[in-house]
Formats: sequence, C-alpha cells, structure tokens
Amino acid sequence: MGLSQSGVVSFMEGMGEPAYRARQVFGGLHQRRLRSFDEMSDLPKHLRTRLNETASAATLTVESRYISDDGTRRFLMKTHDNLPVETVFIPEEHRDTICFSSQSGCPLQCTFCLTAQLGLLRSLTAGEIVEQIIIALNDAYGVGVKPPRGTNLVGMGAGEPFLNFDELIKALRVMADPQGLFIVPNRVTISTAGVVPRILELATIPDRPHLAISMGAPTNEQRNELMPINKKWPLEELLGACKEFEKTLKTGERFTVEYVLLDGINDSDEHARQLANLLNRHALHAKVNLIPHNPADPLPYQPSPAERVTQFQSVLESKGVRSFVRRPRGRDIFAACGQLAARRDTNPPPPNINSVLAQVN
Ligand code: SAH
Repeated sequence: MGLSQSGVVSFMEGMGEPAYRARQVFGGLHQRRLRSFDEMSDLPKHLRTRLNETASAATLTVESRYISDDGTRRFLMKTHDNLPVETVFIPEEHRDTICFSSQSGCPLQCTFCLTAQLGLLRSLTAGEIVEQIIIALNDAYGVGVKPPRGTNLVGMGAGEPFLNFDELIKALRVMADPQGLFIVPNRVTISTAGVVPRILELATIPDRPHLAISMGAPTNEQRNELMPINKKWPLEELLGACKEFEKTLKTGERFTVEYVLLDGINDSDEHARQLANLLNRHALHAKVNLIPHNPADPLPYQPSPAERVTQFQSVLESKGVRSFVRRPRGRDIFAACGQLAARRDTNPPPPNINSVLAQVN
C-alpha cells in the first residue's frame, strides 16, 4: 500500500509480470480501494494467488468505530503487530476532512494532549498511512465510490508527522497519483509541534502539503513547560524556520499557527499580546487557529470560556493578527484534537524525550 505506481511496476516485474498488470493492481488498491487481491476480478486467478503469497493488500484492521452526535467518526484500528492507530472522518458542509495519524502513540510529551500518555509505540509506514484514508473513505462513501466533493486531509492525528518525515512524504506521493486516490498535496495540511529541520526541508519540496505549527504558548518559559520539544527547538528557531518556509509560499497562501486555549493558563490578554508580538516581530503572516482545549481525564486543564476566547481574538485582531476558532468535533467519542489515545492494555512508559529527539538532526 505504500508503493507508488512505479514501485508496484518494479515489484511485479520482479515476479515476471508486465507493467499493465502492475497498473491494474495499483488501480485496484488505490482507485477501486479494494482491500484484497481476491477482489481484483480483472486479474487471472493464478496471479491473485501469487500476489497473496508475496504481498499484502491490507495490514490494518478496524477494531471499532465510534460515531459522534455531530457525525464525526473515529476509527480505532490495529496494525499487524497489534498497535493502535486512530483515524477521524469529519463531515463538513463543503468538503469532508480525514484526520490521519503518523505514529502509533507519540514521543512528544505535550502536557495538554492525551496521546502523549501512550508514549511512542512506533512510527507508521507509508502503507499504513494510506490505508487509514482508504478505510475512512470506504466507510463514508462505499467501497471505491468517489467522494462527491473531494477530500481534505489533515496530518493532525496521533504522533508527530515530522518525526516520520520520509514515510509521510512517500504516503502523500502515493495518494496524489491521478490513477489512485488523487488527493493532491494542496488538499493536505500537516501539523508539527516544531521539528525545525523538517520544516526547512519541507520548504524545499516543490509539491508539498500546507503547514501548520502547534504553538501552545507565546514564551519559551511557558512553552518549555507545556511542550518539552521547545527545549530542543526554542521559539526563535521555530519562528525563524517558519520565516524561511513563508518565503517559499505562493501569493495569498499562508501557513497556520495552532494555539490551544487552556483556561487560566495561556489565555490571558497578555498571552494574546505576546503571541501577536512574536508573530509581528518575525514578520510572519500566519493565520492563527485557536483551539479550545478538549478536556479529558486525567488532563489537568479546562477549555477557556467563550468570552475569553472572543477577547483573546480581539487582542490579536487589534495587533493585526488574523485568527479563527476551531470548532471542536467529535468530543463525545474522544475524536477531537488531543483526544486520540486508544485505551488499551499495552501501556509502556513514555520513552525519554531527549533520546528520541537526539536522533533528529
Ligand atoms: N504532533 C503534531 C500533530 C498533532 S496535531 C502537532 O503537535 O502539531 C494536534 C493538534 O491538537 C495540535 O495543534 C495540538 O497542539 C492540539 N491539541 C493537543 N491536545 C489538545 C487538546 N487536549 N485540546 C485541544 N487541542 C489539542
């Protein structure tokens, strides 16, 4: 599932099969969204048998599906090695959105996020990323049925996408294929907690997704507390990388700054001023996406009251910073931002964050 069309061609050449067979297989997997070779009735039986012996068309299994009052669907899946993967389908007025995970669990220890409590189980393969989208699409529209209004993707599920950069980019390339899912990078937004070298790398990729940065706090002192990744890449470095990235944006295109609002913690007028000043000082033209905290036991935070959110917004506005508030979706089924933490028996202690970050240059 993680192979591009040319990857499938080489793979099947190795089996002594011609390129047109490979194209049938690629189309079967990614356009018809079939989850087994046996369903590919356009292939001769002996080829299906050989494929079953050498490859897998599907590795994720759906364990459960939860449907929210607002129509949001959360899929709890498991990998072949029994690790949790969560994907969220969010129906929207104009165009539905699928939120996928890049890792099982997450190594970052953001104090407001439930996924942190799983620790990192492992990074997902490109195939496992693509499969999540196929499963969600088939469930929402029917097997192989084209989404009537296209699909937006957000890499905002469990995990830090930029600590799994290569597989992520591979998955996006596979999904962009016009003979497959045909979801182009322009329809994709990837969110990072601030892995600076990968922000700079993304800036060099021509066909790339949109970028969102999770800010969480407007000072190093507070960000160190809430998002320990800040100790490795503090705000000046992060915003410097954003500036580099911004230079490569097309006219009218903006990157997003996400800011989770925690009641009485980071939501005062002073915090809003600090946030606006920070962006203005770096001459960044980001749009700010305010995310009311999605509470969950045992996280020690509450969402800011609505009036506070409005007031926070007007302080930003007065300093020329555009913002909008993200409507929480699927809170009742643990599908909202920061709530993906498949409760399961496997619960290893989170790894030491420094050892994880030390591997990134
Ligand atoms: N690791 C990446 C991808 C996850 S995106 C990143 O941090 O960007 C998930 C978004 O939800 C992030 O912006 C994060 O700051 C936010 N978030 C985490 N926990 C939350 C919570 N409990 N309530 C609201 N937003 C939360």
